[in-house]
Amino acid sequence: MGIMEDSNKYVLNTYNRYPLVFDHGQGMWIYTDDGNQFLDMTSGIAVLSLGHSHTKLVEAIQQQSKKLLHTSNLYYSEPYTLLSKKLIEKSVFDKVFFCNSGGEANEAAIKMSRKHGKKIGANDKFKIITMKNSFHGRTMATISATGQQKYQKDFEPLLDGFDYVELNNNNELKKIVSNETSAIIIELVQGEGGIHLANPDFVSLARDLCNEYNSLLIFDEVQTGIGRTGKLFGYQHFLPVEPDIITLAKGLGGGMPIGAMLVKEKIVDLLKPGEHAATFGGNLVCCAAANAVLDTIEEEKLLENVEKMGIYFRNKLNELKDKYPCIKEVRGIGLLNGIEINFPSSELINKLIENNIITIPAGNNIVRFLPPLIVKQEHIDIVIEALDKILKKQ
Ligand code: PLP
Repeated sequence: MGIMEDSNKYVLNTYNRYPLVFDHGQGMWIYTDDGNQFLDMTSGIAVLSLGHSHTKLVEAIQQQSKKLLHTSNLYYSEPYTLLSKKLIEKSVFDKVFFCNSGGEANEAAIKMSRKHGKKIGANDKFKIITMKNSFHGRTMATISATGQQKYQKDFEPLLDGFDYVELNNNNELKKIVSNETSAIIIELVQGEGGIHLANPDFVSLARDLCNEYNSLLIFDEVQTGIGRTGKLFGYQHFLPVEPDIITLAKGLGGGMPIGAMLVKEKIVDLLKPGEHAATFGGNLVCCAAANAVLDTIEEEKLLENVEKMGIYFRNKLNELKDKYPCIKEVRGIGLLNGIEINFPSSELINKLIENNIITIPAGNNIVRFLPPLIVKQEHIDIVIEALDKILKKQ
């Protein structure tokens, strides 16, 4: 049997897969086992920051894997220490905890907020405010944090203590916050929820309320972190407002599984040895990969590229919107962009596949474009030309 048939036979059916078997990739391009090439506008869902098989990333992985794969967190190591130093020096945070994924990074942040409530002696200070339409992962705690019922139904009872407010609704937030609030979690750009951006005044209000009620402000930067928005971290768009915690994953390892929680000085002593851990957290090969990602973003001036290409992409998409009323809105920042259309996103995604371009949905009517941070104008032009051709016939 072929790969698709075997996979369908042996793997649990938790994903809707496209009928493509990918075999290798280079830069912006990914190739099927029968030799077809596709322009990658997904980055493996915002993961492949440097595109496919970037030389520096591959070299870092090869060198570290020849040297030492894993030691556990019972010992010290260089790639791990280097990565923590880089993340802290490049941000406003003071310490880091490494794990393997976005969901795990958010789990760590949720445990931090529970502990924070306990530490200040308030047993009922465990409530967490998150946003309606948010997405924070698929573990029990993170589906509880996720403000979308479609991810929660059939798995109830959820973890206790989550309240949901509409993103950018200042009144709702003010009404719900209380002395029982241990944290407010915000996704600065709701990615899975359809590319909705947080307003600076809402984020600033959340900061003020957290100060007033002694709660932690947490930004889920699993999708917005590591250059995706044109700054290394999404919170940098909202300065001088600073969160107490950010969570990272996806783009950090450039394709290798690593997550991180970065925290401010005031809470570095909250978790004691043994209170939180991950066997694979900060795996040495993943840390070497993340070091290469951060170095290459700097060396190749990719943040400037993200900003420039993001503006170019949105301008071109807006030109299409003016031409085709089926595009209702163009939304995004940096290279996290989407178009809202008046027909199912799956139809457009399948037509783009026929044109050798892969994209992903963000809800039923939104197509998301998440190219690697190395994307050039010529690649964006290919997408725009294909969209023009498809929408002409729509
Ligand atoms: N948080 C956000 C904002 C995400 O976009 C995602 C994944 O899409 C997650 C958390 C969960 O990350 P993971 O799938 O690595 O657990």
